[in-house]
Amino acid sequence: MIVFSWGFADFGSVESASLSGVNRSEGGLVLLLFGPPGSGKGTQSGKISQWLGIPAISTGDMLREEIKAGSALGNAAKAIMSGGGLVSDDLVNRMLAQRVSAPDCAHGFLLDGYPRTVEQAEYLDRVLNEQHLESPIVLHLDVPMDALVGRLTSRRQCPQCKRIYNLLHQPPKTPGICDDDGAPLITRKDDSEEVVGERIRTYDEVTRPVLAYYQDRKYHQIRGDRSPGYIFEAITGILEPVIAKNGSSCCSKAVRPDNP
Ligand code: ADP
Repeated sequence: MIVFSWGFADFGSVESASLSGVNRSEGGLVLLLFGPPGSGKGTQSGKISQWLGIPAISTGDMLREEIKAGSALGNAAKAIMSGGGLVSDDLVNRMLAQRVSAPDCAHGFLLDGYPRTVEQAEYLDRVLNEQHLESPIVLHLDVPMDALVGRLTSRRQCPQCKRIYNLLHQPPKTPGICDDDGAPLITRKDDSEEVVGERIRTYDEVTRPVLAYYQDRKYHQIRGDRSPGYIFEAITGILEPVIAKNGSSCCSKAVRPDNP
């Protein structure tokens, strides 16, 4: 995980955070996983990243790493995140632009939790344009609002590999322990019932309008109230024809997993 330990004085202008004019690989896929908190974005992004061999970038995970590292950005984000609000566009945009200009993103990448405002969506278009990357494919996981609170308050996460569990539907084999690396699972601070309510409100008011921005573009709506395996099948069904058509450079070795 890359931590951006900038002081505020280092920030410079927003535009300078992206690498203007850098020529990235033709045919790289840029995927946006969109959906309310608790819609399963984190689970699906791990599966897609493994399938296609592209990095999954979660702005939420990046911000939590900044908080852990005690950076200026982390300190600025901490109180906002624990209240369920959104970190400022300026800070998140800068962090994102720097991350996607890293070499591992040259053949495409997946964004989980970004963009969350119309300003961020406009900024992302500018970054992709500057880096000669394709316009994004939006995968919208649509989950009824009344299912979200229960999902979030029963969620647990491995702090090391970031795998997500759900005590109701996908518990770990040993209670409280990650199946993959044995680390003790944690409950995210903002998964308390009170903060979850605020996060869902923020999504409805500020983030849902971003969908209108992408509606006439490469936009796909997927029912998110199904099993993770079913949702992943739906996603591979959407992306396989795109990969076949574009000959996307990221995905030449992509093989649909037998057991999603
Ligand atoms: P979820 O999608 O379940 O809300 P995330 O891990 O994506 O969880 O985000 C956790 C918190 O991090 C958000 O509630 C918000 O405070 C902050 N955050 C993450 N991504 C962004 C973003 N793109 N813009 C502003 N704030 C963000």
